[in-house]
Amino acid sequence: MTFEEIICNPEPITFLKNQFILERIPHAQILTGPQGNGSMAAALAFAQLLLCEEPNKESATACQSCSSCKQTNLLIHPDLHFAFPKISDKDNKSNSIEKAFREAILQNPYMDEMGWLEFLEAQNKQLNISAESVRQIIEGLALKSFDSSAQVMIIWLPEYLGDQGNILLKLIEEPNKDSYLILVSHNLEKILPTILSRCQTVSFEKISNKRILESLSSIQGLDGERLKQIALVADGNWDKALRLSKHEEENPSQEFIAWTRICWTLKASTLNEWIENFAKRNRESQKNFFDGGLALFYEILHLKFGNELASKLSSTEKETAAKMADRFNLRQIELIVKQITNIIYHLEANANPKVLLTDASIQMHKILTAG
Ligand SMILES: [Zn+2]
Repeated sequence: MTFEEIICNPEPITFLKNQFILERIPHAQILTGPQGNGSMAAALAFAQLLLCEEPNKESATACQSCSSCKQTNLLIHPDLHFAFPKISDKDNKSNSIEKAFREAILQNPYMDEMGWLEFLEAQNKQLNISAESVRQIIEGLALKSFDSSAQVMIIWLPEYLGDQGNILLKLIEEPNKDSYLILVSHNLEKILPTILSRCQTVSFEKISNKRILESLSSIQGLDGERLKQIALVADGNWDKALRLSKHEEENPSQEFIAWTRICWTLKASTLNEWIENFAKRNRESQKNFFDGGLALFYEILHLKFGNELASKLSSTEKETAAKMADRFNLRQIELIVKQITNIIYHLEANANPKVLLTDASIQMHKILTAG
């Protein structure tokens, strides 16, 4: 993974490269921001640069041809260590999960924890990072401290360490020469302040709509309405943009409008059939459906306020959004947005989709017909 290949905003990459060029590399840093923002990809590229045998020091680029670079590209470099959340089952064999993690990250460094659980086919399990697994790596780093080569430890989603995060303190306060700790987090609030205050923070914001559009067009070969539609729903998350682009048939906001029509009439047989079909979709597709609805209604809300932000929408959606903005009052639209957010929350918490959607459809009917 080179810096140039990463789909993200340019600022954090320039920041990391400058650290290397100026030889001011902190021993502990935390790359942070919303999901799908490219921070894990950046951590991998930075690790490669730190471990490269012949890096270009003026441009901060790894050579890509030394044995270190080749090993980092496959995530098998002996001085590149990972700590990451695992499913808490006792029979969880540590070697196989290490291998699975490397595979999953190689396939998609933009994945979030839901993507990781899906990779493990363990969608209903809980994740956590055990202090013991982190301790083992830290002890390994200490043993090798006499060695002159660099060592990098990447902790993916350190928020899963919770209160046990203190285990990192010694490593951060008394780092070995040439050992680097890179934390990749989507939720700084869950990281102990004692850790946070001792790390350099590098902010990865939501990826700009422009960057998502360009990347979807150059990498996925998309264009036209569909391109705009996916970028709108992805909302700065490249992981989501990629997943949406692979689901040819899905058009979340159009499907969402179809559902609101069903809620409007609330005909039992039609609704039941719709819910049966919805329940058969996987959780990712169920979430995409409501993410699409949320994106659409946010735009409608903007239209209602007279803002011209609807440029993210395709032209068909603009028409629909304008019609809906006319038909519903501000209060109704606010309630719908709230309702969708609530459904997404429950889907993420593994609620039964049939029960959830039956109730949600009735609530939607009340909101839509309240006028
Ligand atoms: Zn190299």
